[in-house]
Amino acid sequence: MLGGGGDRTIVIVGAGIAGLTTALALARHGISSTIFERAETLNEVGAGLQIPPNALRVLTRLGLTERLRPYAVSAISVTLRAGKSGRKLAAVPVGSGLDAPYFSMHRADLQSVLLDAVRVESLIHLESDRELVALTASSRGVDAEFVSANGERAHSAADLVVAADGVNSRVASLNVLSPATFAGAIAWRARVTGKVALDFNARSGGITAWLGPARHAVAYPIRFGNETNLVLVEKAGAEHAAGGETVPRGFSNWDAVLRRLIDEAGAFTPWPLLTAPAERPWVMADRRTVLIGDAAHAILPYAAQGAAMAIEDGFVLARTIYDDPDINAALGLFEAQRRERVARVAARARFHRFVYHLPPPLSLGRDLVMAAMPPSRLQKSLAWLYDWDLADSA
Ligand SMILES: Cc1cc2nc3c(=O)[nH]c(=O)nc-3n(C[C@H](O)[C@H](O)[C@H](O)COP(=O)(O)OP(=O)(O)OC[C@H]3O[C@@H](n4cnc5c(N)ncnc54)[C@H](O)[C@@H]3O)c2cc1C
Repeated sequence: MLGGGGDRTIVIVGAGIAGLTTALALARHGISSTIFERAETLNEVGAGLQIPPNALRVLTRLGLTERLRPYAVSAISVTLRAGKSGRKLAAVPVGSGLDAPYFSMHRADLQSVLLDAVRVESLIHLESDRELVALTASSRGVDAEFVSANGERAHSAADLVVAADGVNSRVASLNVLSPATFAGAIAWRARVTGKVALDFNARSGGITAWLGPARHAVAYPIRFGNETNLVLVEKAGAEHAAGGETVPRGFSNWDAVLRRLIDEAGAFTPWPLLTAPAERPWVMADRRTVLIGDAAHAILPYAAQGAAMAIEDGFVLARTIYDDPDINAALGLFEAQRRERVARVAARARFHRFVYHLPPPLSLGRDLVMAAMPPSRLQKSLAWLYDWDLADSA
């Protein structure tokens, strides 16, 4: 068996982007794992997703980028526009060389490519309809208890538990960590189909964001350019987080191009934005359980990097487990390698929120600065983010 991970029993909780990537990355090192997922069927979930070059570089190493390509559209830049007039403020280059383009696609398409790869991998065992309900320290490491929809219970003894169970992580709550909190904004998500989507995708040439006080909108092609994904983000009070509203407010006098997309969109799904506390530990007190992806550090979606961080996490964790036979040491190394980068990305997302939502007259200053900045400088300012490679974390 390769490396140090081969004889350990690794349990991954959650078959989202973080869990599936981790299992595939472990298998690449010859390490087996079992994924337990609470959903009975793993199919179409969510809306669109931008996959930035830093994440695609990882997916390329896992042999997946060419499998994603038939579903994706490559973006060259993100076009920033004034919300009301639609005036172009800047085009921010987002590619990172030939090996790593910037994709936009449907989340379900990414998920299904990951799942297909998992299902043919003999080192990965996937059990659905298994909700983690308890974790107990055992002589071996950790005993994980799962329950199925019909109430049936199952146990798994693990040397290592990887909690990839999302922003409302059960593993975090079982370890009595403070829960994720409402971040004061709601993202409304919808898909546009038909001629309006085809026309918009053909003209936009990538990703478009409209900026305005306390709100912004993002639109980009998915399903190989046949549909448009639309996300409208608005500041909102805690009373709105519980739901109840069915349409986004406040975009009625915005750019006609955006309004057309909104008018043509199917139903909007409200998505209250949550963040995990920055001080949340990732390695639990048992030194056998580690949080990754949104369970560890759900960051705001303003930089479109949450799934990308989950993908990077999975790849780095697999390598540290492979490199170090001592689980405790490997988990410590993982956290040390990832914390600074994730914190920097989270800060960048907060910066985007600040800049995107500036009210006048501050927004006028923002617009002037953006217009004066050459695209090459904008690209250089994002090199730390998009040019990341696994070697950078060593
Ligand atoms: C509006 C919006 C737009 C976004 N856009 C982007 C973008 O463009 N690009 C980007 O990179 N990121 C984006 N993100 C962030 C991205 O969606 C998340 O960061 C990413 O999905 C996190 O993946 P994950 O695997 O950690 O968690 P999840 O996707 O939440 O997966 C968790 C899995 O664990 C399972 N699970 C949960 N509890 C249990 C349990 N007790 N037992 C067993 N299984 C369990 C769940 O069923 C699920 O399958 C966006 C987020 C939002 C809200």
